[in-house]
Amino acid sequence: MSDHGCKAVIVTCIDFRFQEYINDWISENFPPKTFDRVAIAGGVFDVTAVLKQVEISKRLHNIKKVVLINHEDCGAYGEAGTIQKHAEDLKNAANKIKNQYPDLEIDSYYLNLNSSFVNIPA
Ligand SMILES: [Zn+2]
Repeated sequence: MSDHGCKAVIVTCIDFRFQEYINDWISENFPPKTFDRVAIAGGVFDVTAVLKQVEISKRLHNIKKVVLINHEDCGAYGEAGTIQKHAEDLKNAANKIKNQYPDLEIDSYYLNLNSSFVNIPA
């Protein structure tokens, strides 16, 4: 990447079981030093907390993109955490971010325990 600046904020859950998968995925998709990274229990479970971080990232680093990553078997969701519920929450979070920052691009993913990333269209 030739130009300077931070490209994205990447929001994930804190769950230790997924960090290596997320690290590998980020390495494949973003050059070093081009993204902010936020870990919040449940990923987008607490949309208000996510919005707060996106706001700061945008204000300080002028990000162009938000990447939201929820995952399978998330403790913050417990039994309620079906892929449908995660997809619904990811779409809802994307909509709320879009409403506040229409110029931001948003990519959402559901990460499986087997390390596969499923894109969730907004
Ligand atoms: Zn989790």
